[in-house]
Amino acid sequence: MQKRLILDSRLLDIMISRLCQQLIENHHTFSESVMLGLQPRGIFLAERIRQRIKALTNIVVPLGYLDATFYRDDFRRRETPLKPNATRVPFIIENHNVVLIDDVLFTGRTVRAALDAMTAFGRPKKVELLVLIDRKYSRDLPIEPNYVGRHVNSILSQRILVEWKEQGAADDNIWLIN
Ligand code: 5GP
Ligand code: MG
Repeated sequence: MQKRLILDSRLLDIMISRLCQQLIENHHTFSESVMLGLQPRGIFLAERIRQRIKALTNIVVPLGYLDATFYRDDFRRRETPLKPNATRVPFIIENHNVVLIDDVLFTGRTVRAALDAMTAFGRPKKVELLVLIDRKYSRDLPIEPNYVGRHVNSILSQRILVEWKEQGAADDNIWLIN
């Protein structure tokens, strides 16, 4: 196994600031905006983004967690059953601008399932997608992010390892694993 560092905590911090500035530019006061972190790994980034927007603007953007396990098209095709995580959407998304947040975008199937899961809560005015890492050229579906931390040109056998301090890592780091 080979591990190559693609983002350290300092760069990640700058990137999160930039993503927040882009959100602020497009969402202004966030008066009709909400964010949904995709379970299980998108929620760490989503929490960071909420904190950073608060630090930059003093605005607290509503943040929920969305689990798309039961909406996956491979739900019944896996050998080991998928374990669902909590969905928590304690606000109204009807007619709101929703920002979906995940750590890594790969085939796009998780986001497709998330769009389906989200529909159970209402009909948003607009939905955007923010991801930290976009594994380009690996999409199975016509899904593209609106906000991207970093594009990574990875092949199928590679993986991105995202380490957050909140999960017990010594520091935030993002690695490309061969
Ligand atoms: P997709 O459904 O687009 O194929 O994969 C995206 C989902 O799987 C995301 O929720 C993400 O957390 C996870 N994922 C896919 N590829 C990777 C990867 O290389 N590294 C990490 N950390 N997660 C991945
Ligand atoms: Mg995805």
